[in-house]
Amino acid sequence: MEAERTAVVERRLIEFELDAAFSFRAPGDAPSRDVRLRAKIDRVDLLEGGRFRVIDYKSKLVPDPKRTVQLQIYTSAVAQQLRRAGDAREAAEAFYLSLEGESAIKSLRAARGQSLDDLLRDAEQRMVKAMDDMTAGHFPARPTPRSLCAQCPFDSVCRKQFVELDGD
Ligand code: SF4
Repeated sequence: MEAERTAVVERRLIEFELDAAFSFRAPGDAPSRDVRLRAKIDRVDLLEGGRFRVIDYKSKLVPDPKRTVQLQIYTSAVAQQLRRAGDAREAAEAFYLSLEGESAIKSLRAARGQSLDDLLRDAEQRMVKAMDDMTAGHFPARPTPRSLCAQCPFDSVCRKQFVELDGD
């Protein structure tokens, strides 16, 4: 991975710890939300030019960043933590590094016309909305892919059926 990248690594921070409240952008015009996080990030590389990258190791399968927020939230929180420590840096990239998967690297990829920060904001908003939904008691089962239900031993008692009847 490093051989394919030209950026000089100033420091490799292993098991980068987050244990504080961080500010995340909320959907629409709502104010940003402070959320307490506790996590250990596999690796944060401090790069030349005031940038950093976040790496999350996976043994094999990697999540789809379009459906998950872990990597994006880590990246936003790392930027804030570095800033608080007096080392303000810009996120250069973030990716899952799979040790045995078919594709070793799965990065956060911005669509044309988007920036990495656009991806981070989208994930922050999705997380804040999910938290609000859970607080309101709305957290329907939404397996991805839906075919998982076919092998699930709880299919006969799962409330997903009620959710679907309600048209959710
Ligand atoms: S049947 Fe229910 S619990 Fe089982 S995978 Fe589907 S949604 Fe999840």
